[in-house]
Order: sequence, then C-alpha cells, then structure tokens
Amino acid sequence: MKKGIHPDYHKTVVRCACGETFETSSTREQLKVDICSKCHPFFTGRQKFVDTGGRVDRFNKKYNLKSEN
Ligand SMILES: [Zn+2]
Repeated sequence: MKKGIHPDYHKTVVRCACGETFETSSTREQLKVDICSKCHPFFTGRQKFVDTGGRVDRFNKKYNLKSEN
C-alpha cells in the first residue's frame, strides 16, 4: 500500500446560508452551502426565493399563480 495517494479526509464544518451548521467528512476544512435540509423547501414545505433569476416568476406565470397575496 502506498501512502499519501488518498485525500486527507477529516471532519468538515458545513455552514449554510440560513445559518445552520452541520458536520460532514471532506477533504476541505470548511464548506459553505446555499441551502441545507433545514431550509430547503422540500423539507420545510415553504417557498424560499433562493434563485433570483426569475425562475419563480416564470413558474408562477406558467401556472397562472400570483406570487403576491
Ligand atoms: Zn440552510
């Protein structure tokens, strides 16, 4: 077995944009994510405007939904 050919995995603190932090294993010491299981709409059931590229707007128009009210 050769040594030094495998990445050095260690505990990594992942910090989400919502402020949530959790640990995982990675070769990097710190990771930043925009979304996590705590704030992802799939898990929260709430709509979150993560992408400001107008995707939500287009989606709402396509299905005749109004984002206001
Ligand atoms: Zn989050």
